[in-house]
Amino acid sequence: MSDPGTLYIVATPIGNLDDISKRAAEILNDVDLIAAEDTRHSQRLLQSIQVQTPVVSHHDFSADIAIQRILDKLEAGRSVALISDAGTPLISDPGYKLVRLARERNLSVIPIPGASALITALSVSGLATDRFTFEGFLPNKAQARQKKLSLLASEQRTMVFYESTHRIVDSVTDMSVVFGSERLIFIARELTKRFESHFLGAASACVEWLGADANQQKGEFVVIVSGSDAQLEEKRKHEQAMDIVRLLKQEVSMKKAVSLASQISGARKNRLYEAALKEFAGDER
Ligand code: SAM
Repeated sequence: MSDPGTLYIVATPIGNLDDISKRAAEILNDVDLIAAEDTRHSQRLLQSIQVQTPVVSHHDFSADIAIQRILDKLEAGRSVALISDAGTPLISDPGYKLVRLARERNLSVIPIPGASALITALSVSGLATDRFTFEGFLPNKAQARQKKLSLLASEQRTMVFYESTHRIVDSVTDMSVVFGSERLIFIARELTKRFESHFLGAASACVEWLGADANQQKGEFVVIVSGSDAQLEEKRKHEQAMDIVRLLKQEVSMKKAVSLASQISGARKNRLYEAALKEFAGDER
């Protein structure tokens, strides 16, 4: 039973309609109004559970006046359920403004939990789940995407991304370049649906897997990237810095070369100096 003046945030299935919870179906049936991201899309689900509650449209571009109307209804004691096209509302989906304003007005906001693609994918990834960061969708444009990935290259927590059929190959290819071809990546495609598939492997193997069969590039994706290994990262930086030292050493003193290489790469200066001393022993000008 729904309570008066309450906004319910109701999770819906991410593909398999049988994943709707009993409580979600009851609330959707019982509330006075359902606010849906796409009213036509939600009809399929609502019909499958015989819900005839009136549905209005609510999305991130909803005018303030439309949000106001929902808040007014709640204040007048009506109950409203917010649903998105799939999964948990507000997770890369509309609803933030509505929930924020409802909270500011001390209205009751109650979650009806259920599926979310990110948790569903994490639970079967085989990658560390003790600490993770949800990054949502990467930028569409290549340069912005690569920049964003570079900022995440040293992230030690598992990273979860959403991706669409249009960019899956480009994004995973960029991940392989920026994070390194050895980084472990899990791809979850079409979770809970008929053509569900999963792949866990090194970034380079993921690129190959996607490229080997165009069908594997279709549908909806969650891409999970294992966090950077701190020791490996340090080793990578050190090796990169030593390459820089070798180049600079032809032009400047070893001390200067080490200092510049450490600034450029972020590698530890003392360790670099020791390695450079060993490598160039005797040939310092
Ligand atoms: N609110 C949703 C949730 O809780 O997961 C996410 C909505 S977001 C607009 C849609 C994206 O979620 C898709 O592009 C895809 O990255 C991911 N996604 C949703 N359903 C999925 C599924 N069945 N399999 C894989 N990824 C899915």
